[in-house]
Amino acid sequence: MKEIEIGNAKAEPGKLTYGFIESLDHPTGIIEKVPVMIAQGRENGPTFFLTANVHGNELTGIAVIHQLVTDKLTQELKGTVVAIPTLNPSALRRNHRSPEFDERDPNRLYPEGKFAEEEEEEEIDKDYPELYEQVANKIYSYFEKYADYHIDFHNHSLRSIPYVILDRVFYENETKKEEAEKLFKQQKAMIEAFGVLTCSEFPAKKYIKMKLHRSVSGATLNSLRIPAFTAELGENSVIIPQVVKGSIKGTRNVLKWAGMLEGPREEITEFLVPKPHEQLRRCYHPRAKQSGIIRFLVNPGDQVKKGQPVALITDILGRKLGDGYILTEYDGYMIALRSEMTVYPNDPIAEMGIKDDAPLVVPIPSKKIN
Ligand SMILES: [Zn+2]
Repeated sequence: MKEIEIGNAKAEPGKLTYGFIESLDHPTGIIEKVPVMIAQGRENGPTFFLTANVHGNELTGIAVIHQLVTDKLTQELKGTVVAIPTLNPSALRRNHRSPEFDERDPNRLYPEGKFAEEEEEEEIDKDYPELYEQVANKIYSYFEKYADYHIDFHNHSLRSIPYVILDRVFYENETKKEEAEKLFKQQKAMIEAFGVLTCSEFPAKKYIKMKLHRSVSGATLNSLRIPAFTAELGENSVIIPQVVKGSIKGTRNVLKWAGMLEGPREEITEFLVPKPHEQLRRCYHPRAKQSGIIRFLVNPGDQVKKGQPVALITDILGRKLGDGYILTEYDGYMIALRSEMTVYPNDPIAEMGIKDDAPLVVPIPSKKIN
């Protein structure tokens, strides 16, 4: 069996073992520790990483890991599941997106790998990774050493449906294109096995500009070239038991796809799974044209048509602004609705899944990104 040692956790065939990665030494005498669970089967197979809670207020993945990664799993598993229930313990403690020692988005701080030259950063900064980057580098070193597949669990926002994100696969030059296409096919098959709505990530230039290649799964996929994806498991800050149940089914489906569990793929019936006929991509849409107070006319998961009103907009006295509606300019699906009732001009009021015309396997855009 594969020997795996992560922090002070060590894999043992047929057992679930536990431990911690010491990730940051605080000046006040406490050590930041990232928890690790290793479930190893008695038969050989791939090593699958499941990670959660890089954003501390996104909780469903923790429940999925606690319920799925058990002694019982080791009895039926071929290979090893490495689970990290929280990638960001201090953020979990304060139910906040970022760690207490670094306010930046932790899901943009994983190693930049082959994209290093694409960023317009002063060289000197790279020699001194900041605090959460130091934690991320340590965690990532274990992905690099052991992972064959990876899912990173998130929650989009309070009013959202579960969906998974299909990252575009980047390549450096024509000689690497074939490898990129192969990796993309694997990633897509893995996502389809999960069995929920899929949206591709933002198109190439925006992806780099938003540093999505430095997200947890973006870095695994695009720099380590390991099939990986982000699963957005619906509502953040709360645990919905049905979502946990459906997400465990999805994860088990992927483990079956990877040859690590036996049995047929199970359909997710615990929550809404829209079935579009075309590839969708994420898009912040529609946007408010003026400041005001909004109320939605649609629900997460609804299919909408171009020109359809999706929200009412009024002033604070309840009087209509303009014709009183915000319309969608695209056909598509409502993925997530804005949590705040107030909007300013240009604020997106939702995230939609709209038709994706952009290529899915793409060369790394040139340095000039604007
Ligand atoms: Zn997140």
